[in-house]
Amino acid sequence: MTPSRPGLVSRGGAEVTYPSCDVLIIGGGIAGLTAAVGASRSWNVALITKSTLDDTTTFLAQGGIAAAMGPFDSPELHLQDTLEAGAGLCDEEAVRVLVEEGPDRVRELEHLGTNFDRKDGKLVLASEGAHSVPRVVHAGGDATGSVVASALMDAMSSGSGVELHENEFVIDLLVDRGRCVGAMSLGPDGELRVTLARAVVLACGGAGQVFSRTTNPDVATGDGHAMAYRAGAVLRDMEFMQFHPTALYGTENPTLLLTEALRGEGAHLVDKDGVRFMVGAHPRAELAPRDVVVRHMKRVMDRDQTDHVWLDARHLPCDFLRERFPTVYTGLETRGLDLCTELIPIAPASHYFIGGAMTDVWGRTSVPGLYACGETASTGIHGANRLASNSLLEGLVFGERTVRSIDQLLAGSDQPVPRVKLELGEERRQGNDAATLKECRAKLGVLMSDLCGIVRDGVGLEKAGALLTAIAVSLRPPRRTVQELELINLLTVATQMVACARTREESRGVHLRSDFPDCDDQHWRRHVLVRLDQETGLPVMGFEEMAAKP
Ligand SMILES: Cc1cc2nc3c(=O)[nH]c(=O)nc-3n(C[C@H](O)[C@H](O)[C@H](O)COP(=O)(O)OP(=O)(O)OC[C@H]3O[C@@H](n4cnc5c(N)ncnc54)[C@H](O)[C@@H]3O)c2cc1C
Repeated sequence: MTPSRPGLVSRGGAEVTYPSCDVLIIGGGIAGLTAAVGASRSWNVALITKSTLDDTTTFLAQGGIAAAMGPFDSPELHLQDTLEAGAGLCDEEAVRVLVEEGPDRVRELEHLGTNFDRKDGKLVLASEGAHSVPRVVHAGGDATGSVVASALMDAMSSGSGVELHENEFVIDLLVDRGRCVGAMSLGPDGELRVTLARAVVLACGGAGQVFSRTTNPDVATGDGHAMAYRAGAVLRDMEFMQFHPTALYGTENPTLLLTEALRGEGAHLVDKDGVRFMVGAHPRAELAPRDVVVRHMKRVMDRDQTDHVWLDARHLPCDFLRERFPTVYTGLETRGLDLCTELIPIAPASHYFIGGAMTDVWGRTSVPGLYACGETASTGIHGANRLASNSLLEGLVFGERTVRSIDQLLAGSDQPVPRVKLELGEERRQGNDAATLKECRAKLGVLMSDLCGIVRDGVGLEKAGALLTAIAVSLRPPRRTVQELELINLLTVATQMVACARTREESRGVHLRSDFPDCDDQHWRRHVLVRLDQETGLPVMGFEEMAAKP
């Protein structure tokens, strides 16, 4: 089942001249901003974001950026940790690019004005799960994302001029004879806009909002994934959604994240009797890879018939906690909780979407003219489980590489900005009312959490597919409101997530099948791919084999 296309409604065909640019960037998080700052040095760039620049997942990032910059570290060690966490599915070439180019990208951020936390002039490096040495640079304690994004925003506004469009929702990519040539969007007043470009960069972030409990902001509705899919791009690893173990327990959505760096500084995970359940479960105890921690939490919750466990930081000095983790400390305080004196109830929540538009190490998707970076992309660096704090780094490294590859494309061709004839109409449609949309969103979140969440099985996934179809067919053709378009995108992403999760009959990394509990290297050391056949309008699944193990 493929939810209906939200995009073009056509009628009539008056010739219209559309605004154009060399490079169109969709998204203003770390990946989009990095690409915009770089591309604007040589090209005429437009950046569109559906909200404001301070409303991104990037802005919420707490722990920091992993990069081999410490005296006891090396890119080789970072590579080994990333491959190990990725459970056999990382693309080694892409990881090597990440770890080797990462330190330079972090130094460039410092030159742009990011003040990473330092002590006695030296970078303070934090420990996080599955890193074998302290490696994570951070800023403002646990406010890394907002500090980094602010520096990039300043660089963008003081540079050679990026045309910024905030509160503009991109509906769909425009593809002409197999090449991406721009995008169509809804302006702040609901008017249709078209932007033509020689190269288009999708940097729309993740899709945590597919689930009912997420750390992701409201903007994370998988729009980039859904647009790439509709444009015919190959999506990869859509079954892999990483759940973060330490999200504040409750019904809030998004929920407050309690950064992994807290455990890096010595906070414990305890069960209802106060017992540290990760001790003895993994040699690194609370600092085991995220998928391992989540699996053990789930076991403990099932054993104890609870729906949460607790984070215990009471043994750490209160002044230190306040200074090192101001975001978490204040976030808890405003909710009536005290990190210094109380056990904090926590439960896993959807956090990072590993699946995305497949790219090579230059940000190129399978559709000519279309690039992807950041959480929308599948570069292959995360394998089946992302190593903590590798995603901000990914946005920096592959955002910059995307620019280098666009530089080559545009410098090497005199191809003008495309001219396409579009037929846009203002066809009146009744659409779906706000109450229906809210109800469908809620149903979607619950069914995905119940049937395609931390633990899945074939029967549940089949049911999930049927329920998603039922929601999709219950909707009227959209009137083209943001709420409708986001729901269609969420349904599109959820549908492919379920299809790929059904396909992978094993347990690996963040994908845990109760009916196939073992990791099966013989059959499943390969990626699941899916794309929309542009002729038939049907999804086509495929596989990408991994290189043989050395
Ligand atoms: C609470 C939290 C803490 C985290 N902490 C860390 C950390 O410490 N270290 C780390 O490495 N990772 C961390 N992560 C993950 C990391 O923050 C994200 O993976 C990363 O910021 C994604 O960046 P991005 O540029 O790809 O997307 P985002 O920052 O999400 O930006 C996406 C952009 O796309 C725009 N957009 C989306 N759809 C459309 C559309 N249809 N039209 C127009 N614009 C659109 C959005 O408005 C936004 O501007 C954290 C995640 C969360 C949720």
